[in-house]
Amino acid sequence: MIYDVIVAGAGVIGGMVARELTKYKLNVCILEKESDVACGASKANSGIIHGGFDPEPETLKAKMNTAGISKLYETAKMLHVPHKQNGSLVCAFGEEEEPAIHELYERGLENGIQGMSILTGDEARALEPELSEAITLVLNIPSAGIICPYELTIAAVGNAMDNGATLKTNFEIAAIQRANGIYTVTAKDGQSVQGRFVVNCAGAYSDKISAMVGDDSFTIIPRAGEYLLLDKSEGVRVSRTIFQVPSKEGKGILVSPTVDNNLLTGPTALRVRTSGSTETTDDGLAIVRNLSKKSVPGVDYRQVITSFSGVRASVATGDFIIEPAKNAENFVNVAAIDSPGLTSCVAIAEYAVEILGSIGLELLANPAFDGTRPDPHFIKKMSDEEKSAYIAEHPAYGRIICRCEMVSEGEIRDAIRRNPPAHDVDGVKRRTRSGMGRCQGGFCMPYVMKLIAEENGVPMEQVTKKGKDSNLATGRI
Ligand SMILES: Cc1cc2nc3c(=O)[nH]c(=O)nc-3n(C[C@H](O)[C@H](O)[C@H](O)COP(=O)(O)OP(=O)(O)OC[C@H]3O[C@@H](n4cnc5c(N)ncnc54)[C@H](O)[C@@H]3O)c2cc1C
Repeated sequence: MIYDVIVAGAGVIGGMVARELTKYKLNVCILEKESDVACGASKANSGIIHGGFDPEPETLKAKMNTAGISKLYETAKMLHVPHKQNGSLVCAFGEEEEPAIHELYERGLENGIQGMSILTGDEARALEPELSEAITLVLNIPSAGIICPYELTIAAVGNAMDNGATLKTNFEIAAIQRANGIYTVTAKDGQSVQGRFVVNCAGAYSDKISAMVGDDSFTIIPRAGEYLLLDKSEGVRVSRTIFQVPSKEGKGILVSPTVDNNLLTGPTALRVRTSGSTETTDDGLAIVRNLSKKSVPGVDYRQVITSFSGVRASVATGDFIIEPAKNAENFVNVAAIDSPGLTSCVAIAEYAVEILGSIGLELLANPAFDGTRPDPHFIKKMSDEEKSAYIAEHPAYGRIICRCEMVSEGEIRDAIRRNPPAHDVDGVKRRTRSGMGRCQGGFCMPYVMKLIAEENGVPMEQVTKKGKDSNLATGRI
């Protein structure tokens, strides 16, 4: 089959582009090198819906961020992705940093952001009592929020698939050729897919994909961001996202509640060797601990439950690249999407599809498109009475598999069955939160493995943590 559009990469950008394309009568195929979607930057970031005060006016970043905020809130509602408009505060420590707060306020106004205000340190502490006494001036951005980035990605790809898109995982693009107006995209293992148009959404590898069609006009400079995630007991320290005045390196170290009521601190902004350098380091995590305590001194780092790192796909210009490739027809780069790419994802997808239309992709409305997705967490939102009645009919939802996060067998089976299906333990974790609590899967992992094996009709030895060679069991004893 020859697809109308091939989307390279199943991060939040590839997912949203594919979803946007299914609004039209088009055959869409998403190619992803990993065993699941949301395995790149889209799973390891701050999860902040940025207020839009930071990007330089007139840049693509500023335009996409400003347009993206309300589009993202609306889409998250339609797709039942956990999110919250909790607002954010940018803090200046002393007279030297105070002019930056006024500059950010002016820049925010220029970018079209509404509702911002400037607070004194005391006014900010009245809102957030745990803020440091050293904070003297604060930019208040009530329109900012938090969202679960990997659930957003899963929902975007899932909704695209529900509307007819095809997802091929374990498809690592190694070559792209064009003959007679048709692209042949070939994977490392030799399988291939054909299509008329290609959209490059390969994140930190987007320069490599672009170079495959002869456009080597940009180079990704990978910059890692390391984080510490703390237990829910710490999630109450602050209700808003607390930033420090940004530097050239980025938005600085934040302290924020997550949508699941944990506390997140980080990220660093350290240049790394490769786009795959997602390890955490002693030095990086020390920076996170020390600088976060500057804003919120009371953070108790004995309550850390995990650490992680994500790689930003930055380029020298500092802006997003969303344009037709140089020297290649019917090929669009949606590249260098570092922060605020998550906030901007819906706006970016709309813009990318507009570009595809302008270079010849026929956009005929698909009347069957349904932009909504059932709530995967419906059982958690029920009252006790509703739960009892539902469990009486569907007993699997009463059998709790993950006791830290209270995830039932029914929810795990749903995650394995619905689009995009979870094939491994980490895939179930990102969809249901089983294994994300205090014990980090210590108790529930074997049960999750058993359910994956049962649902897929394979022995437990074949169940992996995250695809490829990450098998968890070697055999029965
Ligand atoms: C530390 C950090 C903090 C951030 N914080 C925020 C924030 O708070 N708010 C915000 O708005 N934005 C934030 N961002 C930015 C945001 O995370 C990104 O803009 C967004 O996730 C980019 O999505 P993507 O789909 O372009 O990239 P990715 O999620 O990396 O997806 C690219 C996909 O392409 C696949 N791929 C690569 N090469 C190939 C190949 N050869 N063949 C097939 N598939 C391939 C990858 O496996 C991957 O799944 C942050 C980013 C980082 C790293």
